[in-house]
Amino acid sequence: MNYTSTRGRGQSVPSAGAILRGIAPDGGLYVPESLPALTLEDIRTLCGQEYVGRAVWVLSRFLTDFTGEELETCAAAAYGGGRFDDDRPAPLAVLGDEAILLELWHGPTCAFKDMALQLLPGLLTASAAKCGCGREAAILVATSGDTGKAALEGFKDVPGARIQVFYPTQGVSAMQKLQMTAQEGRNVSVVGVRGNFDDCQRGVKAIFTDPDLMGRAEGLGCFFSSANSINWGRLVPQIVYYVSAYCDLVSEGRLALGDPVNICVPTGNFGNILAAYYAGRMGLPVKKLICASNRNNVLTDFLRTGAYDRNRPFYATSSPSMDILVSSNLERLLYHLSGEDCGLVAGLMAELEGQGRYALPGAMHDALGRDFWGTFCDEKDTRETIRRVLDTYGYLPDPHTAVAVHGAARYRAQTGDDTPMLVASTASPYKFAPGVLAALGVPAPSGDEFASLDLLKSLSGAPVPGPILGLRTAKARFLDQCAPGEMAEETLRFLAR
Ligand SMILES: *Cc1c(COP(=O)(O)O)cnc(C)c1O
Repeated sequence: MNYTSTRGRGQSVPSAGAILRGIAPDGGLYVPESLPALTLEDIRTLCGQEYVGRAVWVLSRFLTDFTGEELETCAAAAYGGGRFDDDRPAPLAVLGDEAILLELWHGPTCAFKDMALQLLPGLLTASAAKCGCGREAAILVATSGDTGKAALEGFKDVPGARIQVFYPTQGVSAMQKLQMTAQEGRNVSVVGVRGNFDDCQRGVKAIFTDPDLMGRAEGLGCFFSSANSINWGRLVPQIVYYVSAYCDLVSEGRLALGDPVNICVPTGNFGNILAAYYAGRMGLPVKKLICASNRNNVLTDFLRTGAYDRNRPFYATSSPSMDILVSSNLERLLYHLSGEDCGLVAGLMAELEGQGRYALPGAMHDALGRDFWGTFCDEKDTRETIRRVLDTYGYLPDPHTAVAVHGAARYRAQTGDDTPMLVASTASPYKFAPGVLAALGVPAPSGDEFASLDLLKSLSGAPVPGPILGLRTAKARFLDQCAPGEMAEETLRFLAR
């Protein structure tokens, strides 16, 4: 199966090429030329397998230029090698009749990004070997908090790769920042950008597609690639856990094979929910996808009106990984909804670039509404949901997960649809301890993040993940900061290192 750009120009490439490049030369995103099928019979078979087996099955349908053995090796190293703190990398937790949480934060950095970023380095290294280019991969990452750390952990000391992460200095939690600035490894660099996530993302995309910079990288024996969810190698592993969760629900008798499920996802860059969409398009019985946003509700408005408009205030919220106004992966959805009309997508993206807004043709807006339902949660409702879920179910959700639990409840209340609801739980609450404490009405001890952890643990009884406890003794290594306009210079310095 080959991959083409959402914006159409240029040739199709095998999956290894799409993974290596990250973004297509015309600035579009790689999409598969066709979508593989997942039948109920396939699901029945996958029910009898563990996570690694399910992952290999899904990956093999999309990454057809990889051998079964390559995929097996990559998946076993990512999910079977003791890097996750639970035997099942993505276990379920039940909130009464309200929702089933799909916990995606049992990896080494305690956020759902690990699900893909533990696998991506293996896929990327194998892709480089296939393409025989002999150059080193320079991975550039823009992060709203969690991707950066997960990518650093995935790529640290991986031969043939180096990684540079840009994060917004004021846009991440103290724990997220310490996780990144204290990163170990010989091939890593972390830079704070005096701007927001959109500045970081725009800067990285500009570096990738700048012919002069690409030439300079080549001269230094490198090529640029991306570990952001614009990279196809990030999305496929995310399809796996929706398929796997459905299998678990069937195996546990919560669903009969073929029964529909709704999926609610706390959304920022639209990668996670897009993976659920792909699972549904393949044949997973998904009825509705609920797109839950925080106060940065550009997607809620888009789903309601069909007009995307990023000209609006940007809010720093208690769910910082969703503080995004330009959701990159929406471009892939537009491509599929438009009947794979890359001319139309290129036009809409040019409008977004130029005016910061675009409006969908009516038929596309209708198609969008058939699969998706959008809602958002303000800060007060986020706090109330954290408290309610702890009080009602004895379960402590992180603020991102709380946004989704709130969205799921609102969907049910407004539509009356009581199809079983799977909610993506995307981070450990201990990554955001002061915010979670505030939600519980407890003032956070000032100055010391770790005192907040202890207090939160005593209130909730939930264990603190090992990787977060380990930060107690960590020292920040990377103190560099730059303006958004200086990111390219930082990258050149990093390449020359
Ligand atoms: C990245 C992230 C999200 C948003 O996921 P997208 O794929 O960008 O939509 C939600 N919650 C957490 C904790 C995250 O790290």
